[in-house]
Amino acid sequence: MSSWNPWHGCRRISAGCANCYVYGRDGKYGKDSSQVVKNADFDLPLKLKKDKTYKLTTEEGIVYTCLTSDFFIEEADEWREECWQMIKRRFDLHFFIITKRIHRFSECIPQDWGEGYLNVTICCTVENEEAARFRLPIYKAANIKQKIIVCEPLLGKIDLSPYLDNTISQVTVGGESGPQARICDYSWVLDIRRQCTDACVPFHFHQTGARLKKDGKIYIIPRKYQHSQAEKAGIDIKNTKKAE
Ligand code: SF4
Repeated sequence: MSSWNPWHGCRRISAGCANCYVYGRDGKYGKDSSQVVKNADFDLPLKLKKDKTYKLTTEEGIVYTCLTSDFFIEEADEWREECWQMIKRRFDLHFFIITKRIHRFSECIPQDWGEGYLNVTICCTVENEEAARFRLPIYKAANIKQKIIVCEPLLGKIDLSPYLDNTISQVTVGGESGPQARICDYSWVLDIRRQCTDACVPFHFHQTGARLKKDGKIYIIPRKYQHSQAEKAGIDIKNTKKAE
C-alpha cells in the first residue's frame, strides 16, 4: 500500500476520533499529535530517484493520502494548493483522501477543480447517525468524481439510505481497533449492507474491529485477524446487479 503524508498531526473533531490511531502511535513516543506540521516528504509525488523516475509509484496505482492528519484541516490551508498541483501533475496515480472535514471541502478545492479531478477519490467518514446527518448532505452535493462513504469505526446504527445512489462508488464498514476499542455490533454492519443492497451500491466489510458483538455475544478479536475475519464473513457486495 502506497501512502503520502504531506503533513502530520490533527485535532479531534467527532466521536470517531476518540481513539485516533495517530494519537495512539504518537503517544508512545511522547509526541504531541495536536501540532500539525509539514512533513519532509511533503513533495513526495514529485521526488525523483537517481534514474530520474518518480520515487512514488504503486502497482495498483492508488496512493492513500494524508493518513496521519486530515487533508482539509485548517492548519494546512497554506500548504494544500501545492498538494493539489502535485496531484494534478501525477495523473498516473489515483489519490484516496479520507476526511472527517467534508464541511470544509468547498473552501479547500483548487480553482480548476470543476466537476472534480479524475484521479482523486474523496472518502467521507461517518461513524454514527449524527455524523451522517451533518456530513452526508454536504458530501452528496459536492462535485467529486469518485465518492466512498466510510463507516469506520462504526459506533452505532446509521441510516445511509437518503444518500445512497449511483454517485457512491462504495460503502466501507469496519469496527474500531486498539485497546480502547468500542463495540461494533454486527447487526449494524448487516443493516448498512442491506441498505447498500437496496440501493445497488457496492459494500465492503473492511475489518471487524477488536470487539465485535454478534447475536448478543462480544468477541475479542486480535489485530492480526480483524481483516481476515471480516473477509471470512463473505458479505462484500461487488457486483451490485447480483446483490442479494
Ligand atoms: S480526523 Fe482522523 S486523524 Fe484527525 S483526530 Fe480524527 S481520527 Fe485522528
